[in-house]
Amino acid sequence: MTETFTGNFTQQEPIPEEAIEAAVAVMRSGRLHRYNTAAGEAGETALLEQEFAEMTGARYALAVASGGHAISTALRAVGVRPGDRVLSNAFTLAPVPGAIAAVGAEPVYVGVTEALVIDIADLESKLDRARVLLLSHMRGHICDMDRLMALCNDAGIIVVEDCAHTMGARWNGVISGRHGAIGCYSTQTYKHVNSGEGGLLVTDDADMAARATMLSGSYMLFDRHIAGPGAEAYAEVKYVTPNISGRMDNLRAAILRPQLRALEAQCAAWNARYAAVEAGLRDTPGLQIVERPGAERFVGSSIQFLLPDWDAGKIGDVLRRCAGRGVELKWFGDAEPRGYTSRYDSWRYAPSAPMPRSDRVLRSIMDMRLPLTFSVDDCALIARIIRAEVSAVFQSGVA
Ligand SMILES: *Cc1c(COP(=O)(O)O)cnc(C)c1O
Repeated sequence: MTETFTGNFTQQEPIPEEAIEAAVAVMRSGRLHRYNTAAGEAGETALLEQEFAEMTGARYALAVASGGHAISTALRAVGVRPGDRVLSNAFTLAPVPGAIAAVGAEPVYVGVTEALVIDIADLESKLDRARVLLLSHMRGHICDMDRLMALCNDAGIIVVEDCAHTMGARWNGVISGRHGAIGCYSTQTYKHVNSGEGGLLVTDDADMAARATMLSGSYMLFDRHIAGPGAEAYAEVKYVTPNISGRMDNLRAAILRPQLRALEAQCAAWNARYAAVEAGLRDTPGLQIVERPGAERFVGSSIQFLLPDWDAGKIGDVLRRCAGRGVELKWFGDAEPRGYTSRYDSWRYAPSAPMPRSDRVLRSIMDMRLPLTFSVDDCALIARIIRAEVSAVFQSGVA
């Protein structure tokens, strides 16, 4: 019997009832704007920020309209100016170079290793080209953060972290987003908490927090931010920082607060699914597992594996055969950007130099989402299907 899978790879869980009730209460109040609060009321957005700061151990937190907006706000807040260069990952998603472009800066791409993390040796060779690194923990893979931070601190490089895929993750016990000067998160539907759109940033730096708050569009109402710095941090900043509106609203914040409380349990559920797929794929001929270091406590909301040095036609066969059995894989190496995949050389607004070693890795990356609407048994079935199809194509003769 040929097994097929009938689940939907883009179907997330429903919003928890408690969050729905909180959202309905905000709608009944009519006070959706974060600064539209009743006397003595903090507002859902300010409370979300307070709770996120507590959760991450950061001094300050700010909620904004999207993860991409959090990143561009962070870049502006650390002083990136039009025409500057910003170091960033060659393996990432479009909002990352997009955030660099949004501030009028240009990326200097740093390569990717077979572990799917930034190539620290390549980074080392490019440290003199910029003063800021926008580090994307793409698909939740975390590099050796102790080594990276030591390098960047020595070179005077400011690190901004893109934690769109690492909310809830840690490196060596340190929460992802807490190594660099600013950590940025997304609350968009396909990330670890779901408000449709949304973003958060955290920092311990009062000046950066004040700038980010002004940038987000605070209309001189910064004293309403429970998780923001004191008025003294704004003394100068409030006159010299443009308002680039991109606030979070109370409706989204209300939806997010109960989800944050459930994050740990959700992460455990993702990792159980990840483990089932990984176990099922191990020792498949022609397929390389992406091994995870012991210091990395990741969140397995998606899984990647490599088909190293396969030709494009064979990879296409695997994609088609898996799709025919209900398993939706994404190929990051595809020359044509499709859906959520794209390569650094397809972002043609930002110049790039060829990176042959990274290209070889990128060409081999297969990616699959693991929504929590899948059971652990579903994940074992998915792995059996991939294993069978990869083996069949591989044995039909690769190079
Ligand atoms: C989703 C995502 C972001 C931020 O995305 P928004 O859709 O703007 O919230 C940033 N980086 C990566 C790698 C992402 O996948």
